[in-house]
Amino acid sequence: MTYAYDDQNIFAKILRGEIPCAKVYESDHALAFSDIAPKAPHHVLVIPKGPYVCYDHFARAASDAEILDYTRAIGAVCLQLGVTPEDGGDGYRLIANAGRDGVQEVPHLHVHILAGRNIGPMVVMRP
Ligand code: 5GP
Repeated sequence: MTYAYDDQNIFAKILRGEIPCAKVYESDHALAFSDIAPKAPHHVLVIPKGPYVCYDHFARAASDAEILDYTRAIGAVCLQLGVTPEDGGDGYRLIANAGRDGVQEVPHLHVHILAGRNIGPMVVMRP
């Protein structure tokens, strides 16, 4: 496996407390905070605390405890935002970009939770 993790990425700095964030939720292995440039009324990023570049890296290399905690953290944030359809919320979209074709800007795994309005078509293709 050759995932090179850059510990100078912006989310690594947030995890080390070198850069502030608007924290939404924290657990043993996960941190959630508001996106600095929100694309929807709710736009929260959920990141694992471990040094994982993207989702497939995390899925292959993280411990069971990290994967469980991170997955639960995403659910907890959705509940906290009041957007879970099961509880009468209007829903949300999860996005996890990876690599060049996925147009990932920050090379530390993050799931975007977008909610608070209709998020529109799943993908808008560029020519
Ligand atoms: P990506 O394109 O990598 O999936 O998304 C990166 C996201 O990180 C973007 O939505 C961007 O607005 C957000 N972002 C970039 N820098 C910062 C920052 O310093 N603080 C916060 N809270 N979000 C950031």
